[in-house]
Amino acid sequence: MFNPFSYFSKDIAIDLGTATTLVYVRGQGIVIFEPSVVAVNKKTGQILAIGNEAKKMVGRTPAHIIATRPLIKGVISDFEVTEHMLRYFIEKVHRQRFLISPRPRVIIGIPYGVTEVEKKAVEDATKSAGAREVYLIEQPMAAAIGARLPVQEAGGNFIIDIGGGTTQVAVISLGGLVLAKSLRIAGDKLNEDIVNFAREEYKLLIGERMAEEIKIGIGSASPLKEKREMPLRGRNLVTGLPEEIMVSDQDIRRALEKSVRQMVQTIKTTIEETPPELLADIMVKGIYLVGGGSLLKGFSDLVTKETKIPTKIIEDPLTAVARGAGMVLENLDELRDVLADTEELEPPR
Ligand code: ADP
Ligand code: MG
Repeated sequence: MFNPFSYFSKDIAIDLGTATTLVYVRGQGIVIFEPSVVAVNKKTGQILAIGNEAKKMVGRTPAHIIATRPLIKGVISDFEVTEHMLRYFIEKVHRQRFLISPRPRVIIGIPYGVTEVEKKAVEDATKSAGAREVYLIEQPMAAAIGARLPVQEAGGNFIIDIGGGTTQVAVISLGGLVLAKSLRIAGDKLNEDIVNFAREEYKLLIGERMAEEIKIGIGSASPLKEKREMPLRGRNLVTGLPEEIMVSDQDIRRALEKSVRQMVQTIKTTIEETPPELLADIMVKGIYLVGGGSLLKGFSDLVTKETKIPTKIIEDPLTAVARGAGMVLENLDELRDVLADTEELEPPR
């Protein structure tokens, strides 16, 4: 039946990531791809900037202006700031289309393994940010749909989502997570590892942005074909003066080694616990990697080597969750069984 209310409603899907928030609008695709960062004036509590603008301020602001990340390790750490950020993004989408339109229905991706209380916080923040109805989807499920894996069929699908805060590993079959694990070691932890390495090894204090540049530039999980070097710039903790030190891919590999090993171990444990029938499918289909953290050089090769299962990074790995949640939004009737179980949510119409 034609429902004008739902026809004009600009329903959206949101990937609320620790590092990046993406917004998908029904019928349009992804329209927002911005860092999950909010700049706040601590003295007045006023929000100064959100998203791209706020990210530029990280580490460069006067003491009373803090650039915060409303999510830490995939979980809302500051409810009010999260709500503001969601409202900002939802309203930005609204403004782009009609002048007046009904409040949207929102599908929002949440990390696997968050508690009922944490789920409720996301739902409430989304509602107070302007959503008419809120549906939750677990990020590994959305990622697998975004990777176009046949999640509703009876067969195993193995997906790994490495974001800023969490490494989520899941086995999916018949529209549900058969088995999943979430490790709170991912891209952010690798940055921290580099900061700590610089301090311990060279007595050099470097910022988080510098660490991330190094990670993306020459960071790796297994030896590279060619040796690479990059300058580490920071302040010498002994002299107090600025200093630049050249580091190699090998140095950085050593800095990241422990965290990388823990990530690989979580993947191996998941494989060990996968029912044999599903594992047989996965050995044929392979392991799929999504999320920004999966781009760490040599990581997929390391997973292939350690698991003996072919592993590939999907095309466009950063948008998988948003595209997957968007596909659910476009086909809510056929795909409703993939939504996360929550007690209080109204059934989709
Ligand atoms: P989230 O879902 O938590 O928002 P993303 O999927 O956007 O996270 O991934 C963000 C993480 O990916 C960050 O830690 C970032 O440093 C990392 N990242 C992005 N590109 C690369 C790259 N080329 N190599 C290694 N890490 C990367
Ligand atoms: Mg993510």
